[in-house]
Amino acid sequence: MELTIKNLFKTYKNGVKALDNVSLTIPRGMYGLLGPNGAGKSTLMRTLATLQEPDSGSVTLGDIDVLKQKDEVRRRLGYLPQEFGVYPRISAQDMLSHLALLKGITNSRERKEIVSAMLQRCNLYDVRKKALTGFSGGMRQRFGIAQALLGNPQLLIVDEPTAGLDPGERNRFYNLLAEVGEQVIVILSTHIVEDVMDLCTNMAIIHEGKVLYEGEPQAAISKLSGRIWQRSIEKVELAHYEQTFRVVSNKLVGGRPFLHVYGEQPPGDGFLPSQADLEDVFFTKIRNWD
Ligand code: ADP
Repeated sequence: MELTIKNLFKTYKNGVKALDNVSLTIPRGMYGLLGPNGAGKSTLMRTLATLQEPDSGSVTLGDIDVLKQKDEVRRRLGYLPQEFGVYPRISAQDMLSHLALLKGITNSRERKEIVSAMLQRCNLYDVRKKALTGFSGGMRQRFGIAQALLGNPQLLIVDEPTAGLDPGERNRFYNLLAEVGEQVIVILSTHIVEDVMDLCTNMAIIHEGKVLYEGEPQAAISKLSGRIWQRSIEKVELAHYEQTFRVVSNKLVGGRPFLHVYGEQPPGDGFLPSQADLEDVFFTKIRNWD
């Protein structure tokens, strides 16, 4: 089963073009949708989740018309929105059971088994009796995945799921998603490059509603090979370097700015060849340098 998006357009009433001819083919596995804030990711995710309408275009999930057969899609969909604000004072177990009931799992014995298995799968079984209000960010995100996975979706959409997680929580969350991604289509929308690098087999870069790249992360990196250069400079030199070179990234290493710059030819001035990475790809694409 594949998700096929063709020529999707959406302009909001205020004139913002959030989707500008988006076409993507998304196979089973982990798919990263990478873009800066405001790129149009949530608009696309909400459209795929049947929560809003595009102006034109088509989306199919296998042979289902996503824009028309909404109930069919919803039966196959798990969605973790950017703001999953449901954290009442009841336990994870009771809340999940309630959500399972809403999803149509009416047999109480079956529901109990499914909820228990899901709590274990998402590593929440030990805290199943704890109130959701007391959950940490990582626990909340894993609960978000647990509710999204109820009913065995074939398409799982997660919108900016790792923002605010500490490295340990992020790792646990990655492992859970990677396991899910072996069986279904998982679309991970994010502005965090490492999320895509660490997890996704395929990806797209989206900016100002347009798809700037679609393919494997490693292929994009290879294409940039030989055009990224690096050196460290003094802090006071930063403005000069930013004016003179195409600075892709600037990180402090040992208190000094360490630059990656883009150039088809060696830029001189002490720059050395650098291995390109996905962050270089991301910034050269959204600045339209490559
Ligand atoms: P992302 O998820 O990548 O941050 P969004 O899809 O949320 O991007 O937003 C894309 C653009 O559309 C942004 O410029 C945003 O301000 C605008 N936008 C999003 N939702 C609305 C809305 N309901 N009305 C008007 N503009 C919106």
